[in-house]
Amino acid sequence: MPLDVITTIPQLRDRVSRAHLARQRVGFVPTMGALHAGHQQLMNAARRECDLVTVSIFVNPLQFDRRDDLDQYPRTLESDVAVSAAAGVDIVFAPSVSEMYPFDSACVIEVGRVADHLCGRFRRGHFRGVATVVMKLFQIVQPDRAYFGEKDAQQLAVVRRLVEDFNVPLDIIGVPTVRESDGLALSSRNRRLSAEERSAAPVLYRALQVAERLITDGNRDVAQVTAAARHVIEGEPAVTLEYLEIVEPREMQPVQRIEGPVVAAGAIWIGSTRLIDNIVCVPR
Ligand code: AMP
Repeated sequence: MPLDVITTIPQLRDRVSRAHLARQRVGFVPTMGALHAGHQQLMNAARRECDLVTVSIFVNPLQFDRRDDLDQYPRTLESDVAVSAAAGVDIVFAPSVSEMYPFDSACVIEVGRVADHLCGRFRRGHFRGVATVVMKLFQIVQPDRAYFGEKDAQQLAVVRRLVEDFNVPLDIIGVPTVRESDGLALSSRNRRLSAEERSAAPVLYRALQVAERLITDGNRDVAQVTAAARHVIEGEPAVTLEYLEIVEPREMQPVQRIEGPVVAAGAIWIGSTRLIDNIVCVPR
């Protein structure tokens, strides 16, 4: 079946409810577009496991803490539709802002302590925007499975808690991070980097790998591990470190000592571009 581009909520609901009536499994991949091989990995997983695959493309104003970031966010619907079609997606849901937020909404979803650290600490209101739009999209698409990238580890943790706390009847599937050959995690924001900035960008992954190696080698001292990783970032003058933290994977809380699996997560600025990455580290 050819791919359908749907822009209104009633049309999307109609299509999905027919699939449910036919006892089809509905898979959902929420994105903000500017699709790349990381998004493709999510689509491939959904295609393998579900009968009807919907990808949403919506640059959600509610989750941006800076106007310039929202304005500059790449919007490439035409090529996104081509990428989705090549991945065997059935529906691209690309609503307008007024379709998603037709009037001043009365309700938002406030996220608790899982949003207190890492990106939540530096991007005020970001996870309120993410949780609110994800909940809206879940109500609209009513998927059986929704696919999220491990690249955005805190987002994945927030969505898992959202589904748990509000008893949303679907499965959340985490998909491993897709990287360039030099380790840089694919991101829609990478296309903003100049050639010089691009060559500096893999430093974040290298720093996180240093943390990972120390942890898997048995170092349990968070201060030592983070100091070694920060030192790697400091060696790259084009980059400013926003945070580099070791947290536990469920609630994203900083740990005192490394006693079990942890997430080493970081955010850096290169010029006006902010990049994030993380590695799950399992101590020996
Ligand atoms: P975004 O369009 O940036 O909001 O991302 C949409 C989804 O794709 C999110 O679940 C992201 O975590 C996921 N994603 C983004 N980049 C990658 C990547 N490099 N590898 C795997 N998943 C990714």
